[in-house]
Amino acid sequence: MTAAVEKAAVPSRGIYINSGTGGQLLPIDIGHAEYMAVVNPETAFWALSRKDALADNLTNGKLAALFKEKSAEFAEEMHMLRFGLKPSAVYVNPTERCNLDCSYCYIPADMRRFGEHMSTDKLIGAMTRLKDYFSQTMDAGRRPQIIFHGAEPLLNKEALFEAIDHFGDAFGFGVQTNATALDDEAIDFFTSRGISIGLSLDGPAAEITLKTRRTWRGKGVHDKVLEAIGRLEGYPSFSVISTATTENLMHLKSMVELFHGLKVPTCMLNQVRCTLPRARTVRPQDQDLARHFIAALERSHELYQETGRKLVVANFANILLAIIAPTARRLMCDISPCGGGRAFFAMSPKGDLFPCSEFIGLPEFNGGNLFKDDIASVLDSAAFRKVTERDLDTFKPCGDCAIRHFCGSPCPAEVHEINGAMEYTGAFCEFYEEQVRYAFRLIADGREDAYLWDGWDEGVETALDVVLR
Ligand code: SF4
Ligand code: SF4
Repeated sequence: MTAAVEKAAVPSRGIYINSGTGGQLLPIDIGHAEYMAVVNPETAFWALSRKDALADNLTNGKLAALFKEKSAEFAEEMHMLRFGLKPSAVYVNPTERCNLDCSYCYIPADMRRFGEHMSTDKLIGAMTRLKDYFSQTMDAGRRPQIIFHGAEPLLNKEALFEAIDHFGDAFGFGVQTNATALDDEAIDFFTSRGISIGLSLDGPAAEITLKTRRTWRGKGVHDKVLEAIGRLEGYPSFSVISTATTENLMHLKSMVELFHGLKVPTCMLNQVRCTLPRARTVRPQDQDLARHFIAALERSHELYQETGRKLVVANFANILLAIIAPTARRLMCDISPCGGGRAFFAMSPKGDLFPCSEFIGLPEFNGGNLFKDDIASVLDSAAFRKVTERDLDTFKPCGDCAIRHFCGSPCPAEVHEINGAMEYTGAFCEFYEEQVRYAFRLIADGREDAYLWDGWDEGVETALDVVLR
């Protein structure tokens, strides 16, 4: 044996992309006439290159040097986002009941119809425990968030209002409501305290909203929601969620026009979550969803150009941020493991704890009870770990996908309920591919800021915008 081979193996100098230690940069067709993207799948480092300069950019050493310079920072940031977060928010359901019977609701019908309200004392008791817990786990300067969620939280209005006033500044508060009980008193209460308000509306006209959102007697709620939106005009902390289904897909563009006309600052055009079987009856095809969704985004951009006023489509803005400034993202679905059980968790009116509200109808994901169990042990329970350990690096095709850290392969609840296990592709794979391709096209054209909140980059440490001309 020669002296040379007795030595330990020496890694390459990393001067060639995609071999040795040169780092992987996979080319992606983004559907742009002039540009392609290259992405490092592990760290989510990316660059855009003119197509006719791609070979040169991959071989002239500049891209390799840039990747070498930035990759450690990107890897660390991605690791922190994926594995280093601690909960700072709780979705609190103060009642099991809801006055509506929406087609895609993830809470079982019996629970919504005949379920229980939390008493004021019980709600305040639960929040006292949460406050104690966060005082031990969060830095003193940060405030934990409580988002009152549904079922319909305003059906238990007295308890809700008392609890909010009892805790004052100890928490930042938000409420997600179907808006049917959002009367003047409730609006005054929330807006005078700076509480974020999220409403739901699924159509630009009453007959379209009625297809998925209705009372138990089949009556529509469209006009009531519109009234509430009108009364919230000028309040900066409100948003409207539309759930995109087969029933309203072709109207997404009109939804954007309606919201923009009503001066809604932020909306979400969320694809329907297919956790319970009934929701799957209105599940759109990915290609149709992508086409209508992108047309709606384009319309939001036209309206911004015409009026100078933005309507931010938050679920898409989050994908853009996942690409240009991962730590600035505000929603935690499009990352793996997702935020459920890591960045936040959810509590039912009985005090049962789940990784996310999406699991509230699924008893096997109950990790314990706030009144009986230690929160830290609930977060480490087998029920929670099933969700928090769903790592898309470990299963195919996501583990081989170059855009996996812009997508996150959501959602574990629907993946589990559709497939019976966690290690399956997210329910809207191709929709995510199209969103990422569109986001890169916007970046190539320098249009991305128009789709983001003003001031999105304040306090953001790492933002990437590498466009090689
Ligand atoms: S991906 Fe699903 S489980 Fe995770 S945070 Fe989003 S809705 Fe909740
Ligand atoms: S769901 Fe599809 S787009 Fe998302 S990471 Fe998996 S393979 Fe990629």
